[in-house]
Amino acid sequence: MDPALNNQALAVLNEVFGYPAFRGHQAEVIAHLAGGGDALVLMPTGSGKSLCYQIPALLRDGVGVEQACDQVAGLLEAGIKASVLNSTLSWDESDAIEKRLLAGDLDLLYVAPERLLTPRCLDLLAASRLALLAIDEAHCVSQWGHDFRPEYLQLSVLQERFPAVPRIALTATADAQTRAEILQRLELGEARVFVSSFDRPNIRYRIVEKDDARRQLVDFVRAEHAGEAGIVYCLSRKKVEETAAFLQSQGIAAMAYHAGMDGETRRRHQERFQREDGLVMVATIAFGMGIDKPDVRFVAHLDLPKSIEGYYQETGRAGRDGLPADAWMAYGLQDVVQLRRMIQESEAGEAQKRIQASKLDAMLGLCETAECRRVRLLGYFGEAAAPCGNCDTCLDPPATFDGTLPAQQLLSCVYRTGQRFGALHVIDVLRGEATDKATQRNHHQLSTFGIGRERSEREWRAIARQCIALGLLEVDHDAYGALRLTAESRAVLKGERSVALRAWREGKRSARRARAAAGVADLSVQAQELFERLRAWRLEAARRHGVPAYVIFHDATLREIARARPSSLDGLRGISGVGARKLEAYGAEIIDLVR
Ligand code: ADP
Ligand code: ZN
Repeated sequence: MDPALNNQALAVLNEVFGYPAFRGHQAEVIAHLAGGGDALVLMPTGSGKSLCYQIPALLRDGVGVEQACDQVAGLLEAGIKASVLNSTLSWDESDAIEKRLLAGDLDLLYVAPERLLTPRCLDLLAASRLALLAIDEAHCVSQWGHDFRPEYLQLSVLQERFPAVPRIALTATADAQTRAEILQRLELGEARVFVSSFDRPNIRYRIVEKDDARRQLVDFVRAEHAGEAGIVYCLSRKKVEETAAFLQSQGIAAMAYHAGMDGETRRRHQERFQREDGLVMVATIAFGMGIDKPDVRFVAHLDLPKSIEGYYQETGRAGRDGLPADAWMAYGLQDVVQLRRMIQESEAGEAQKRIQASKLDAMLGLCETAECRRVRLLGYFGEAAAPCGNCDTCLDPPATFDGTLPAQQLLSCVYRTGQRFGALHVIDVLRGEATDKATQRNHHQLSTFGIGRERSEREWRAIARQCIALGLLEVDHDAYGALRLTAESRAVLKGERSVALRAWREGKRSARRARAAAGVADLSVQAQELFERLRAWRLEAARRHGVPAYVIFHDATLREIARARPSSLDGLRGISGVGARKLEAYGAEIIDLVR
């Protein structure tokens, strides 16, 4: 590694971005790219991927071109000449940007993927001096990944058109197979691969049993995140709208976002979410790509995600600033049945359906585990870890019990009712409910009728879910979600295999808030008071500049100022997140406030 290059990179980090030191692989990636090499970078969301191409773009001659994410507001605040080309610009606006590009007057240009691939844009780039090309969300190029986007396949044209320009592909989720496919499809055969730990230690993972999900959500937000920004994911558009309306009726500032809304409303909601403090966005997974809001304090799922990749990417949008954040999910038997049905009924081919089904199984395994959630999550991405102490199962270990008998009762009831009924009816029979459905079919005369009376419906649902997760039962969607025995069931029924089950209970509230891994201790009363004043000042400054509040300073920076109380510009300079440009723009105002 070239030491001069390293020093230059560090100087840019200190001066322009105001950070004291590189994190993880940042320094290596930057030196490699600035020296002209290609790279594939795998780092979790929030770990600082953007600097990996932003700094080399500043160090090298010419403009860095990045596709996907747009972080222009923050870059401009740091004094970097950045711009974006997308479909919302008028002809005049694009024209002005193109002129600056050709004149060499830009350090960084963000281009939307569909625009980048147009002949016009490629010609424009060919006529400009390029420092590097960055491809974010690179996993979208993989057909076996969870988020395939056909237009990404065409990005290999960049290698053909610009073979001499260094390229960097970045992603926050990619298993070994997806990784190999990225290298192949983007023709990055020579690239160095940088893999960081995927852990996000400041995120606390919690999965609660679904009871009255909207009510549970409101309790969670009120108790732990009142007035803070969060994202709530739902599966359907209808549920997004209903949930947003319900939150509003409960006095929580919430907005909706899904692909069925008109573009203008979507854009407005997204912009408000980015700019204003403390809004809750209720959305389908259409929302999130390209959102770079560092102070999202929670991500909640009201429906089960289809894969661990999706779950990890969505929850990764919480706590990018490194401060404590929650990933909270409510999940129930119905979710499993619904998702299985969606897979079965989709247009996908058989091979694709099998992949989807196995991804769903892994997700289900995460929900039902009695082990540390983080160990499971990281293990899924091939990373070994120790129990984390910052997830629900670590903080409040679930009891397990010998569930062989109830599992046998359930399996045998499924068998006796002919493997033609969904979980709810089977549970009715087990509990001895003489419903119309049961009596019409003579199920009240079966030997299994009422053998499970001593357990509540809820307990039985948890047992059924776990039997599905363990592969002891399967859901048949050609028969409306009927439960069926599997090859594994036999050993349990014959008493050759025992079954350990997790005892579910009410999603208990934990009053303890997560403490950041970065070691952010709570502020003293005095510092808290200054922090609040700094926040009020920031809101005002953000309005003046027409940018989101966090673009001025992150919460983490304001907290540090509140704690350190610097009395001079020199003191302020030493605080993480205060670069040269911001010191000049805001330093005096802040010192006044501190005094
Ligand atoms: P990603 O793209 O990986 O999700 P970002 O590039 O948005 O992450 O970075 C996450 C946050 O961490 C940003 O607010 C960024 O300014 C901050 N950050 C990145 N690198 C550093 C560093 N070396 N020191 C301190 N903060 C950093
Ligand atoms: Zn844990």
